[in-house]
Amino acid sequence: MRIDILTLFPEVIEGPLGASLLGKAIQEGLIEVAVTNIRDFSTDRHRTVDDAPYGGGAGMVMRCEPIYAAVESLRGRNSLERVILLSPRGRRLDQEIIRELAQAPDLALICARYEGVDERVRAGLCTDEISIGDYVLSGGELPALVIVEAISRMIPGVVGKWESVTTDSFYEGILGAPQYTRPASFREMAVPEVLLSGHHAEIDRWRRKEALRATLERRPDLLSACKEEDKTLLAEIGREKKEPERENEQ
Ligand code: SAH
Repeated sequence: MRIDILTLFPEVIEGPLGASLLGKAIQEGLIEVAVTNIRDFSTDRHRTVDDAPYGGGAGMVMRCEPIYAAVESLRGRNSLERVILLSPRGRRLDQEIIRELAQAPDLALICARYEGVDERVRAGLCTDEISIGDYVLSGGELPALVIVEAISRMIPGVVGKWESVTTDSFYEGILGAPQYTRPASFREMAVPEVLLSGHHAEIDRWRRKEALRATLERRPDLLSACKEEDKTLLAEIGREKKEPERENEQ
């Protein structure tokens, strides 16, 4: 898969592309990420990329021409079937969108700065507009990296064991289970007995139950994604919740 990132600040992007799992995936050719500097496509003497907003108001708006030229320069290398604008006004990112994007042969991500881009970039050039959450950053570079890193985890071979991906939060629509490593007891907090038992079926059942418990407590809105066999575990969790209450009554 190839991802083109268009930005005025390539240096913000480049560090994370070289590090850890993502860095390794790029080095091994599992994913190709190319960065284009939008400023290289400004044709005026001062290489401007922004201008004052029509109608007045604070700040500057990124101009159409350099962005259109930068995107169009990718023809032949990128199908340009998915041109995504990062914007707080976009569709809010989640694992389902990531999974869908990961199917595409290529993507182009446009990172804006200042007050954002001229509306005609969205209307005439972009196929999608994506937000990484209800808050405002100063640029689309970090959001673009969020997308690239999340997509990279969906590409077989990037994360060493595929099981790590399938047991992650949201992969099956619910939160992940809690995790422990050595030591077995730390400051009087013991690792749940079952995890030390070596009994794989019991461990799987415990993990699924704790994943469901976390989802029920923190994100009940996600529980519609649970499976038929989860109902037994959810009923058990329900009974366990009632028991302490009964104790209090006595
Ligand atoms: N005036 C704009 C915000 C501009 S912030 C508005 O009110 O919608 C500058 C740029 O940072 C945005 O154009 C976008 O590319 C990026 N950005 C900021 N917050 C973001 C978010 N939550 N998700 C995705 N991109 C974001």
